[in-house]
Amino acid sequence: MNESAPLAEPPAESPAEAPVALSPAIEVRNLSRSFSGVHAVRDVSFTVERGQVIGFVGANGAGKTTTMRILATLDHPTSGEAFICGHNVVTHPAEVRRCIGWMPDQYGTYSHMTVLEYLDFFARALGYKGEERIERIAEVMEFTDLTGLADRLIDALSKGMGQRLCLGRALLHDPEVLILDEPAAGLDPKARVELKHLIRILAQEGKTVLISSHILSELGEMCDSLLFINQGRIIHHGSAESLRRGSSATSLIEVRLAGGIEKLSEWASLSPHVTFREATKSGGRIEIDSFDPEVIASVLRRMVNEGLPVIDFHLQERKLEDAFIQILGEIEASGTPIVS
Ligand code: ATP
Repeated sequence: MNESAPLAEPPAESPAEAPVALSPAIEVRNLSRSFSGVHAVRDVSFTVERGQVIGFVGANGAGKTTTMRILATLDHPTSGEAFICGHNVVTHPAEVRRCIGWMPDQYGTYSHMTVLEYLDFFARALGYKGEERIERIAEVMEFTDLTGLADRLIDALSKGMGQRLCLGRALLHDPEVLILDEPAAGLDPKARVELKHLIRILAQEGKTVLISSHILSELGEMCDSLLFINQGRIIHHGSAESLRRGSSATSLIEVRLAGGIEKLSEWASLSPHVTFREATKSGGRIEIDSFDPEVIASVLRRMVNEGLPVIDFHLQERKLEDAFIQILGEIEASGTPIVS
């Protein structure tokens, strides 16, 4: 969590921009932010298309929160530009706020308020009135599974319940883009699974989600692509699959058989695309000369059709953590950011 630098007086709002139907959900161009000599964000550029879920990954102090706060109109860049659904975050913050739901990594304590009072307060602040306000709050409480906790004081919520409340608050105005800063931090495994489930539903509804986390394996399951940031610079932007695969053009498969394990090497020697690599206790490792899922599936189909008693067929991939470390190593060696 960083203390916000006092905001400079925002520039006067220029006349409303024409709606930009096909603009990306998030567009960041050469964004930099310095705090008295500390270069928190340096020349960051990336684009997130509508309906995508993007994981924002980096070590402590890498620049994630600073970037997200600028996107959420809570801070200004030193240079560069950022747009949410085509609206400039500096010159058109009101339009941007209508499009985004922001969940900070720490939310303020409202110990004297109940869950319902908290959501009602923010719904009023958003301009909801009468029946519409009641319905909106009920919908959000149902989605975040807080209906049964409506009268509970916020002070008495668990960390997971508090995070769900914070997500509920961000969803009140049904925003198109969600910016979630470390929503899973400090949650126990059950609460993390619940949160992941909610984010998956939001993604299915077509929302764009930018989510930061340190837990790479979790992001890999949820996100269409991952954005790695290191010392304020983007060092990689790619899909979880391409990261797991690395630069390899082949696929290594671990195969287990119910019996007759010696048949595997013989079968592989007669099969196109396949090379036998090594025997294991219950089968072996084969290499397929492609990473195309269709080719991999066809190899498995052939194995089964040709009578091999396959009980496990497992693609061996790099862990995302290993991919991240490797990319960091490559950056250190070459000094060149990799963006794919
Ligand atoms: P974490 O995972 O620990 O939250 P982060 O990736 O979100 O880290 P930021 O909070 O964006 O990183 O911080 C990036 C750098 O900018 C850090 O060196 C931090 O100390 C510095 N920084 C951030 N906000 C301020 C501020 N208001 N004043 C001075 N320095 C700041």
